[in-house]
Amino acid sequence: MSANLTHVEVLLEKLAQYLVEEHDLRKSLLKVRVIHCSGEDKRNDTDPRGFCHVQSDEWNIYCAAQLEFMPDPVTVGLLLHEIGHIYIPALKGPESEVDVDAWILETVPESDYYYIPDATYLRHLGKSGNLVRAKNLQSVSMRFVRRIMEHGRA
Ligand SMILES: [Zn+2]
Repeated sequence: MSANLTHVEVLLEKLAQYLVEEHDLRKSLLKVRVIHCSGEDKRNDTDPRGFCHVQSDEWNIYCAAQLEFMPDPVTVGLLLHEIGHIYIPALKGPESEVDVDAWILETVPESDYYYIPDATYLRHLGKSGNLVRAKNLQSVSMRFVRRIMEHGRA
């Protein structure tokens, strides 16, 4: 069964439009989609900072259902990171993580992209709804979230 990722879809669409229109990135980026992935649900259970993965250069981001419940700056930070993997592309090995983060800092400095050293969030899946701690969670600023949401509005 696929989970509801409606809010993630809205944020991703706004982010992609912003990147293409404000930073002149390739229009193929507008094809990017989120797809619920039960494998990512399982991974998120054991790795609280694991939410998404991408494959080769298809414009799909496979996500855990939990992403729908994360604060907007975290969701946008994670999506921006996954977009970087596809866009560069940088898909394999620890070097690719460094390359993706460097690309974001260079290309979208106004995102205020950073890693939250020690975050806690409520898990909405599974039996407990327990609080979990995630080290080094990608994030952007709330200011940047507002910027992409207001982008293109008259
Ligand atoms: Zn990554």
